[in-house]
Amino acid sequence: MSFFSGISSFAFGNECLGCHRLGRPLDPWLCPDCKKELLKLAEDPRHPAFDILCLYPMTPLLKSLVHAIKYGNMPGLANYLVRISLQSGDSLETLKSWGKNLHFVPVPLHKARFRERGYNQAEKIAASISECVGGSVENALVRRTFRISQTQLSRDARAHNVAGAFVLKKNLRWSSDCIPVIVDDVFTTGATSTACLYALERKNLGGMAKVCTLLCEESASAKADFVADSSLGWDA
Ligand SMILES: [Zn+2]
Repeated sequence: MSFFSGISSFAFGNECLGCHRLGRPLDPWLCPDCKKELLKLAEDPRHPAFDILCLYPMTPLLKSLVHAIKYGNMPGLANYLVRISLQSGDSLETLKSWGKNLHFVPVPLHKARFRERGYNQAEKIAASISECVGGSVENALVRRTFRISQTQLSRDARAHNVAGAFVLKKNLRWSSDCIPVIVDDVFTTGATSTACLYALERKNLGGMAKVCTLLCEESASAKADFVADSSLGWDA
């Protein structure tokens, strides 16, 4: 029994985090069937738009693993998923093609959520990607809070609000050849990454920035929202 599988059988009664079946050998969180499925899915990254890489498609297996990262206090799973996806193949090639001086910028959590969770899953993902492909992790963004709920605003006001949802930290000193890569757990509508790109654009870094997430949530409404986001002035 490996060190990791020893931990997982102790902590979760030998339950596979993917299919939740009990009593099967785990490697270190998944049974052989789920591990095999994960390895296959790692070969199927998604590119919802130019300069956006999602390491995995959204499937029930990935959904439950990302849920465990966010709500099951298992930040180590982020490293596990990133490492499997970047062992070789399309995702690794894509990240390498983006340049050598990559600055991985995690999407910040709301302060209250960070206090409750104890970590930012986007930061864990960014650190793991950086360990695999080089570059650095830069906590360059601050999330602003709004008193008025987004749902109470008109579409124009909401777009304006989204555009100002993040700000760059002061005294950021980045060389002109750096490529910022916004990192998040799930790419859904593109609204979050668009807001981050707006913040980077204050330093004229938005145009060259990339986006990398663990999962891609593909749905008709997500695509419609992304088109709407693009109409705000972003083509990525
Ligand atoms: Zn399983």
